[in-house]
Amino acid sequence: MSELKAALDQIVAEMANAPERGEVASYIPELGKVDPAKFGIAVIMNDGGVATAGDADEPFSIQSISKVFTLALALGRVGDTLWKRVGREPSGTPFNSIVQLEREEGIPRNPFINAGAIVVSDVLLAGHQPREAIGEILSFVRSVADDETIVIDRDVASSERATGYRNFALANYLKGFGNLNHAPELTLGVYFHHCAIAMSCKQLANAGRFLANSGRIPSLNHTVISGERARRINALMLTCGHYDGSGEFAFRVGIPGKSGVGGGILAIVPGVASIAVWSPGLNDRGNSMLGSIALEQLAKRMNWSIFSS
Ligand code: GLU
Repeated sequence: MSELKAALDQIVAEMANAPERGEVASYIPELGKVDPAKFGIAVIMNDGGVATAGDADEPFSIQSISKVFTLALALGRVGDTLWKRVGREPSGTPFNSIVQLEREEGIPRNPFINAGAIVVSDVLLAGHQPREAIGEILSFVRSVADDETIVIDRDVASSERATGYRNFALANYLKGFGNLNHAPELTLGVYFHHCAIAMSCKQLANAGRFLANSGRIPSLNHTVISGERARRINALMLTCGHYDGSGEFAFRVGIPGKSGVGGGILAIVPGVASIAVWSPGLNDRGNSMLGSIALEQLAKRMNWSIFSS
């Protein structure tokens, strides 16, 4: 553990002096207010060991990282029939791209691009009012993180709704192709709110433990999903978790990861650890610039690539 803590402290010190930090997302105006100098990292080992450094206790908007949790919930709800409505291939396109959806007749490439995650929200809305579906997602996140203090940042959700023209376009397209069962504004209400969940690196790393542990949280003696399902979610995180930067992330870091435009990344070392990092500035693919560099350094130092022997 002391080696890990030393690695995190060194990363935090290096990142404080980084010459470039990327651009904070401002297309959701509320996110544009975040201080670009923030940097936090947390690692939870499967044996229960915890190491953190920097602003690891400060909540930030998890944005698309929430798509990992909604996917786990939707698979629990409808099982493999989900794959009739959403694909499992990397998109090679930006997170909010619409062109592929037209060409592929309303079936989004994967559950982590916006169009795919909107379909997943639609699945979770079935049989519920939006408020209930949002409550269920929040309860799930709280339960896997074992933390009842996690909340949704309503200002971020309203800010995204007020400026979410592209997501409205995607939802309308999906509806036009018959791949949305509810009114676009209702499904998007669920989507915007789960993207607006606020968590610290420590809470997020805790929430990812089941993915590092074949679907189980040993300290709580709780099976969240099957081992097979955890493996598959990890595979999708590796191949699709960073949009059109997924190949680069796999090449440089070599572990499954899911990024969000709030600057967070949840990364999983299967069988070993759950990691969350946060630095608000994004690279040109919309993924945390320093967060990706930090994970590359950490994975190298700890020899955590899933491809190393
Ligand atoms: N709520 C964001 C959006 O739909 C999520 C994007 C992301 O985090 O990559 O634009």
